[in-house]
Amino acid sequence: MNINFVDLNAQYLSIKLEIDLAIQKVINSSNFIGGNEVLKFEQNFSDFIGVKNVISCANGTDSLEILLKSYDIGFGDEVIIPALSWISTSEAVSSVGATPIFVDIEEDYYCIDTSLIENKITNKTKAIIPVHLYGQMADMPKIMRLANKYNLIVIEDCAQAHGAQLDGVKAGCWGDAGSFSFYPGKNLGAYGDAGAIVTNNNEIARKARMIANHGQLNKHNHLIEGRNSRMDSLQAAILNVKLEKLNIWNNKRNINAKLYENHINNKNITLPKIRSNSYHVFHLFVVKLLDRDRMFEILNDNGIQVSIHYPQILPLLKCYIRMNYTESDFPIASNVVKQIISLPMYPELELPKIGFISSVINNFQ
Ligand SMILES: *Cc1c(COP(=O)(O)O)cnc(C)c1O
Repeated sequence: MNINFVDLNAQYLSIKLEIDLAIQKVINSSNFIGGNEVLKFEQNFSDFIGVKNVISCANGTDSLEILLKSYDIGFGDEVIIPALSWISTSEAVSSVGATPIFVDIEEDYYCIDTSLIENKITNKTKAIIPVHLYGQMADMPKIMRLANKYNLIVIEDCAQAHGAQLDGVKAGCWGDAGSFSFYPGKNLGAYGDAGAIVTNNNEIARKARMIANHGQLNKHNHLIEGRNSRMDSLQAAILNVKLEKLNIWNNKRNINAKLYENHINNKNITLPKIRSNSYHVFHLFVVKLLDRDRMFEILNDNGIQVSIHYPQILPLLKCYIRMNYTESDFPIASNVVKQIISLPMYPELELPKIGFISSVINNFQ
């Protein structure tokens, strides 16, 4: 049996008629940038998240960077982020000239350890960027309490958490603003790059929209220098079709997570833990074990594609060598990256495949 890590083709085939029609409509209209589909997506996504403003942009790295700029965060400022994430989280901070301040993660949920944040706050700290890693919400009530106490901005990195909830509140609605990616493999994915900013703050929304479109308030009225970071109409049309399925797909991911849980029976494996009062959207299904590298090979030998998110913590990436961190600065995350493995996870993954993957795992001593 050959099992892909994700299967975007299976998903496309399940919605082919709608997608093909939506794409053809955009091509017929010759309206490739902006226009109706983009406006429609911003409205649809704002209804889905339950937020006042959605600003579409080119990708989920830009959305973080544009948000930091909208809050005037830059040189001399510090931004607190988790030690374990995709590089966009730290890259966005550095690219506006600010300094990423890394914080170790929770042993159980792999998100930022809120008990370690206060120690990292200085008079230069301007913001916290929690990441809802693997589809699981960070501990937002604690983060918001700290942010209020120290007057910090909270920008949620929701790139892996479309539709995730904590205490009935969706990712993107907890902080001052949220950043989404629609990279093809995400829970809501385009057929190329795309991203969005969400916020209830109208002033930040106005600024972010200007920055993403060359600093224009309206055509040829450039109040500031911005950049070109727009979602194109083809991506918006595809996302409009796919957004309607997102709840069903997230539920299917949860069902598949349950199937893994029921079928994996190996005391060497730690399964994902779900934070109480939360809805996990299982962007990734990450298990943990001591002998990870051998398990990785055995799964591959059995035709099962697996991956590691991520093989290295952010502060120890080569690009941050100047910061002189060591593993002992982030003991939990440093340990976790040696033990994690991401199993195939997508809505179209069915029981026979999960059963096969589980049996390979169960045979592993
Ligand atoms: C995917 C991702 C992003 C941004 O992704 P883009 O590829 O730029 O759209 C940001 N943060 C996290 C945690 C991600 O997983």
